[in-house]
Amino acid sequence: MSTLPSFLAGAWRGGAGEGVPVADAVTGETVTRVSSEGLDLAAAVAYARRTGLAALGELTFPERAAALKAAALALQERRQELYELSARAGATRADAAVDVDGGIGTALVYASLARKGLPDHTVIVEDDPVPLGKGGTFAGRHVLTTPRGISLQINAFNFPVWGMLEKLAPALLAGLPTIVKPATPTAYIAEHAVRIIESALPPGAIQLVCGPVPGLFDVLGGQDHIGFTGSADTAARLRSDPAVTRRSARFNAEADSLNCAVLGPDAVPGQPEFDLYADALVTEMTVKAGQKCTAIRRAFVPAHLIDAVAEAVAARLARVVVGAPGAEGVTMGALAGLAQREDVRAAVARLAAAGSIVYGDPDKVEVAGADAERGAFLSPLLLRVDDVARSEPHEVEAFGPVSTLMPYGTVAELAGLIARGEGSLAGSVVSYDPGFVRQVVLGAAAHHGRILVLDRDSAGESTGHGTPMPQLVHGGPGRAGGGEEEGGLRAVYAHLQRTALQGSPATLDSIVK
Ligand code: NAP
Repeated sequence: MSTLPSFLAGAWRGGAGEGVPVADAVTGETVTRVSSEGLDLAAAVAYARRTGLAALGELTFPERAAALKAAALALQERRQELYELSARAGATRADAAVDVDGGIGTALVYASLARKGLPDHTVIVEDDPVPLGKGGTFAGRHVLTTPRGISLQINAFNFPVWGMLEKLAPALLAGLPTIVKPATPTAYIAEHAVRIIESALPPGAIQLVCGPVPGLFDVLGGQDHIGFTGSADTAARLRSDPAVTRRSARFNAEADSLNCAVLGPDAVPGQPEFDLYADALVTEMTVKAGQKCTAIRRAFVPAHLIDAVAEAVAARLARVVVGAPGAEGVTMGALAGLAQREDVRAAVARLAAAGSIVYGDPDKVEVAGADAERGAFLSPLLLRVDDVARSEPHEVEAFGPVSTLMPYGTVAELAGLIARGEGSLAGSVVSYDPGFVRQVVLGAAAHHGRILVLDRDSAGESTGHGTPMPQLVHGGPGRAGGGEEEGGLRAVYAHLQRTALQGSPATLDSIVK
């Protein structure tokens, strides 16, 4: 079997050697082998700086938006192919829609935001002249220009399409050529997506390297942008590379987090918010088999409601059908691979030591349409930790269909518990009591990149706890990586260099016109 090709310097090239086998998450068969051995990554960076930067530099913002839109439409046309590949990674049709359609939608939103919100130019003038002298002859203003570098994106395995497009869109609009480094377990899905879009983009605007990237950071520096999504451990390793610490390459990290969802004391059984909470928890546990960085890991409920919530969630989980994507009745697919399942089991063992499992068995699950052991299947697992002073539920991320219920007493106690996650991507407050919602949101905002308030009024249109929206910021402080992606045009600005210009107002005008 030849290795999965990379797309470098305008051509598809396979890495040498045997490569690392990637197994089908459902059957265990080898899907592909991944190797970057012998690929000239320094040449790829040079090609991006020369060819990609020049080609994108010739386009104005609206023209780049048009190229992005063409790429998104090419994917839309052939999305069935991506759904089929996603099934091999354990994703049901609904899971694949989150990744594939979510990615396409994100790219289209960016194309539209850029068309409406960016000038027909290659430079953005941020402000009007700010007077800096009494006589009006000296002023300042800020411009945003394209760095002379590249955007390297390093992605996690769980969103091979969305993860790529949400980073590609702002980089492309900013005029930066991209090198995509997908995670090995799902690199074959990213590879197929790049095949579909590369001809819609200017030469050098996108390259792909499947497999490890030794030496790549050595040729990156202050004009380059590195966008990382993955575990906190890898983020810590990469951000300590001299490319970042000495040469000041921009480094943005989206890491794991122990996201919370809070049920308000008003939301007793019989109130719509009680059901909304139980539904949201089950959705977050089962979509993509819980392999979402934004999934709810810590479910805080009033102490007097914890039994009722456990019962309601368990009843819903009992209706989940685990099995092969596409098999009759299946509502939850497999994890991405057997190694991921082992990681989740180990994390669940640590969590369970602090409390108990109230639903599911980490070692046993009934599976429809596949073999439970050959495929990376796992039961949804609801845990309960009453001793909230324990560290495990606030520290251990089980990256699968796993969530932990915890009781709280006062709002002040709740605020302290939320903070123990040390920074999260997303949090939810489910309550119809505006006073409670206000207190919790203002207390929790400093620890979150995004907070959803869910109640009977917004539920019909709500996009849900776990879904990052391209218009809104995605990222979080502390453990969540300290980065910020999306947020509409903010992400484009984050790829550009801001320069303060000073001079006479007329001179400044002549520069930026
Ligand atoms: P990971 O093991 O940290 O890997 C992430 C990426 O880093 C992969 O592409 C990996 O490549 C690459 N990588 C590892 N070592 C590297 C090195 N020395 N140089 C360059 N690249 C390197 O994480 P994962 O297992 O793929 O993803 C799961 C984790 O990501 C979870 O903890 C989850 O919470 C987090 N996550 C966060 C977000 C977010 O938006 N915040 C989104 C999704 C997932 P290989 O695969 O080839 O090793």
